[in-house]
Amino acid sequence: MEVGLAGAKGFGVFAARWLARGETVIVGKATGYPTERTRVSVQLDWGRQVEMDAPATLLNHSCAPNLGVRQNHWSAYDFVALRDILAGEELAFDYAMTEHSLVASLPCWCGTTACQGEVLPWSARDQRWREQNAVWLAPYLRVASAVTPAQRLSPWVNR
Ligand SMILES: [Zn+2]
Repeated sequence: MEVGLAGAKGFGVFAARWLARGETVIVGKATGYPTERTRVSVQLDWGRQVEMDAPATLLNHSCAPNLGVRQNHWSAYDFVALRDILAGEELAFDYAMTEHSLVASLPCWCGTTACQGEVLPWSARDQRWREQNAVWLAPYLRVASAVTPAQRLSPWVNR
């Protein structure tokens, strides 16, 4: 993966090569477990967050993400390709996959046609979105979403 400038978003992470759908693209390693949210913390559970090493910590939010999250054995997150990704594409996940809520409203600069103008956390998403993303939610949000296996929609996205 390559780190580069991503316009208004500051830094971003870009695919250094073609990536196949289902591939674990980034393995996040915890660098700390702050007791309160920080600018780069990612929520692990109710009242519990992790800070991760680069490049995981530099991933931007997208309203039409190409990565999903999967909690790993180090109490951090791995990032999995939701579709085939071309070399040079920016890698991003939907912050609602991990964040129940946000301390302050964050403008979104993802630039996709699905952009909602701001980063919307899990609590602002409807049940359809929760079903669509059930496989890729932080475990505590998967439980909170109360999505039965039968309700789960395809975890993959098309370009
Ligand atoms: Zn957006």
